Amino acid sequence: LWDRVLERLQVQLSRPTFETWIKTATAVQLENNCLVIDTPNPFARNWLQKYYIKTIADVVTDILGHPVDIYITTSGSEATQGSDRSDYMWPSPVVTQIPEPTPTHPHRPTELNSKYVFSRFVVGANNRMAHAASLAVAESPGREFNPLFLCGGVGLGKTHLMQAIGHYRLEISPDCKIFYVSTEQFTNDLIAAIRKDSMQSFREHYRAADVLLVDDIQFIEGKEYTQEEFFYTFNTLHEAGKQVVLASDRPPNQIPRLQERLCSRFSMGLIADVQTPDLETRMAILQKKAEYEKMRLPRDVIEYIAAHFTSNIRELEGALIRVVAYLSISGLPMTVENIAPILNPQTEPVKATVESVMTAVVEILGISLEDLKGNSRRREISQARQIAMYLIRQHTDLSLPKIGEEFGGKDHTTVMYSCEKIAALRDNDVEMRNLLRQLSDRIHFTSKSPE
Ligand code: ADP
Ligand code: MG
Repeated sequence: LWDRVLERLQVQLSRPTFETWIKTATAVQLENNCLVIDTPNPFARNWLQKYYIKTIADVVTDILGHPVDIYITTSGSEATQGSDRSDYMWPSPVVTQIPEPTPTHPHRPTELNSKYVFSRFVVGANNRMAHAASLAVAESPGREFNPLFLCGGVGLGKTHLMQAIGHYRLEISPDCKIFYVSTEQFTNDLIAAIRKDSMQSFREHYRAADVLLVDDIQFIEGKEYTQEEFFYTFNTLHEAGKQVVLASDRPPNQIPRLQERLCSRFSMGLIADVQTPDLETRMAILQKKAEYEKMRLPRDVIEYIAAHFTSNIRELEGALIRVVAYLSISGLPMTVENIAPILNPQTEPVKATVESVMTAVVEILGISLEDLKGNSRRREISQARQIAMYLIRQHTDLSLPKIGEEFGGKDHTTVMYSCEKIAALRDNDVEMRNLLRQLSDRIHFTSKSPE
């Protein structure tokens, strides 16, 4: 069966796509209408899951004459880590997500990202104290450092540390009630409780925590009612000797419009900051990330990436993913010469054409050109169309009405709406940001090398 599937896919997909993502995968099992496809690494798994599973499912259904469930695994140890938001783009009725692993801890809250554990956290001069304090809190919660207030700039590991406390605490004490919430979530729960007249259960819920982890507490700024309620939650937990951990992009006394009493509560334990990492630490982070993703990277490549992304670890990781994706699409070897142009995009804008953008979208997202230009409202198609409009707007001089014409005569307001929508996603969603970069790289690549 798999050979026949491959044959079909080879025709349907572009060569680089096929070579990179499909040929490296193998079908390991077909039983009870369930097809298991194994991929060489977690990265390939995510990629297939996200962009090609629909195409594969269609082909398999066509060959067998009935739909099957498709599971994509990777033979690496992290085969079933489903914590990535892989349901993001191409949901399909015949496709089932990889089943969650049987949790080692029955109480492990699903909100914790399984990757944010201490063993994956690289300790450097920039975060030594925050790391030590976090460990201490996980080992003996509710003692010296209560609350523990982690602060520091965006993408420097606060959320990672905070969740690592949760994971480690659960390992030590599996029955412990760990609550991880963003400040936004806390606020939303509160509003919902007020609407539904269920304040009692809201309070009971939050006050039952053994360890309460509240992320991005700076967003409580100016929200009087949330501050009020949080003040009581905090006090109740604190008096009962329960641990509170807060994360913020700045210290308590620099959060504007924060009630004085909350500010003093937040400062009564330990305030530990995370700074930007030095080169050594950045290299160690990349190294560790590459190991977990089962990617082999030459040392000079690691050094090069680390040297170019200095202020934000999330961007550092994004750069790594981008390099790997680009090189696998283009088939080039992993060398500094090859990655430099990807990381230092030319200042002069790439001259792209409508065709090159559409080709990139069609190839990478695995949909047909007719669909892209057509009127289908299926979610994956209409989103691909919006992405294409956005990219054409970015990479060419075409006016909104002209772009509309390229898509079978759509109105310019539709084009404008699409561009705005994708721009908003780009600003708020890492996955979208990575996807757009990948597409831009691909456009760049095809525009430069006439095929
Ligand atoms: P913040 O909450 O401070 O904005 P995050 O905790 O979300 O930052 O970290 C951003 C990314 O960087 C995450 O993927 C995280 O795993 C990674 N990261 C941050 N610090 C480290 C570190 N010291 N070691 C390994 N990975 C890290
Ligand atoms: Mg965070």
